[in-house]
Amino acid sequence: MRLFRCACHSGLSYLRAPADAGGSSLPRSGGPVDASVLADLAAASRILADQGVVDAFGHVSMRHPNDPNRFLMSRSLAPALVTPDDIMEYDLDCECVDPRGRGSFLERFIHGEIFRARPDVMAVAHSHSPNVIPFGLVDKPMQAMFHNAAFIARGVPVFDINAKFGDTDMLVGNAEKGVALAQSLGDKDVVLMRAHGSVATGPSLPVAVFRAVYTEMNARLQFQASMLGGGGPIAALSPGEGKLADLVNLGSASRAWDLWKRRVGY
Ligand SMILES: [Zn+2]
Repeated sequence: MRLFRCACHSGLSYLRAPADAGGSSLPRSGGPVDASVLADLAAASRILADQGVVDAFGHVSMRHPNDPNRFLMSRSLAPALVTPDDIMEYDLDCECVDPRGRGSFLERFIHGEIFRARPDVMAVAHSHSPNVIPFGLVDKPMQAMFHNAAFIARGVPVFDINAKFGDTDMLVGNAEKGVALAQSLGDKDVVLMRAHGSVATGPSLPVAVFRAVYTEMNARLQFQASMLGGGGPIAALSPGEGKLADLVNLGSASRAWDLWKRRVGY
């Protein structure tokens, strides 16, 4: 099916030709997206790189502003290199609306299946940030070390891909694995992936980025606290403290977002 481009917008302005144009099974676009949205998503990718959450790998996505059954994500590219022109649109089956020969991230199913399972989630960040990984390997739950990481007080489940799929390449490379990961996430904000990394979610792009950054920082602090305390109990945030502090964070994440965006030139 022929796709044509709306000249009045940059980026994701791909409208599907009428059905009688015939030919392709590409999903229909959720509609044009403002250039500022694409710039924000490119900025999010660069922020995660700048903050040491992602390196050559990892990715961030957001739900389409006008269609809850579509999401936006970069083509397969190192996060620090993403520009607004690299952003592509997917349906929740992770089919690209307008691939034009561009490669997709193998693990896009992390995003599609979380967006499908969690209508409240508007953005998803997946990383292999190094301080988090040990907490997916040992029987030591992640706890909220300080107020900025308050969301962690709700609990951080661990997704063990081996439990359902046996020996794999560890990647969430199809819908079935994405569904299993989303089930492990449940109603929480963050899920760890055994011997792989983690996923942070949020009700907005800035909050998902905020949580990805502070999940990594919290992991480092918890390791330090544990060493300092000789492995004894840690006076982490209680669930009640976490709930109250997270409310403040939801209102103030924009301050960090504005700072981090400026750091990456957006
Ligand atoms: Zn990964």
